[in-house]
Amino acid sequence: MFDSLTLYNMYDIVADCSDNVPTRYLVNDACVLSGKPLVSASALRMEGQLTVYNYNGGPCYRCLYPAPPPPDTVTNCSDGGVLGVVPGIMGCLQALEVLKIASGQGSSCGQQLLMFDGEGSRFRSIRLRPKQAGCAVCGENPTVTQLQNYETFCGSAATDKCRRLNLLSKEQRITVQEYKSIVDSSTPHILLDVRPRVEVDICHLPFSLNIPLASIEDRKAEHIHLLKERIGELKQQLDAQAHVPVYVVCKQGNDSQKAVQILEKLSGQEVDCVSVKDICGGLMAWAQKIEPSFPQY
Ligand SMILES: [Zn+2]
Repeated sequence: MFDSLTLYNMYDIVADCSDNVPTRYLVNDACVLSGKPLVSASALRMEGQLTVYNYNGGPCYRCLYPAPPPPDTVTNCSDGGVLGVVPGIMGCLQALEVLKIASGQGSSCGQQLLMFDGEGSRFRSIRLRPKQAGCAVCGENPTVTQLQNYETFCGSAATDKCRRLNLLSKEQRITVQEYKSIVDSSTPHILLDVRPRVEVDICHLPFSLNIPLASIEDRKAEHIHLLKERIGELKQQLDAQAHVPVYVVCKQGNDSQKAVQILEKLSGQEVDCVSVKDICGGLMAWAQKIEPSFPQY
């Protein structure tokens, strides 16, 4: 049978250019099990990182990250964005390390992390912790002796494209089609866009109120006040007893779910008398299903 380790055994050096945590663990374990150096690079927004794992007695990826991060704390390029030049720079540096190892000159990144800060135009190197005797795959008594199911291990899909959180119940969400009919019927409501300002400046739906998720998470008083003000205005138009409908939107419908959870906790305290719902799939679903001319980014 042609399994992944057979594939790894056919090569001398492995370069990891992947963009998700399950693949990083898979490639790391496969390199340790097949005894190959792993030249690993990553990039997000304006920053990049480069290191060589499992090389010259240095640590493997698991030595540094024994447990995967909670899936909803990981930002990938699809969500966070990346400036195309940055992976270009990191890819060239990665190719350089591959060539140095292949030619016998050797890499100096075996226990070192090279960090590139594109915004400040700076490179910085830090020394990594050494190989760990207790590491599950490269340690003295390894518990990982063959490849596992890495999606199960990490609790997330091995893809950078379709990360979909599912934090809310069906009743707490509406589809873009349902939201479209709310707009068409001029039903009074608040559309809360929780993307960062820079993304709102690229495109947004008219009449949306922008309060970034980070501000909601930090319970920033001036932002919460903005929302309360809007709710107060709308309350005057509505029956005094009615709950003000707040629909939360973001790019892909992940951050908006987190915002709904926080706002529901605030409900009855700082933010009163609202019914908060998430718009499934966010503005990209809106662009795909409702308004084809809406910019996709
Ligand atoms: Zn290790």
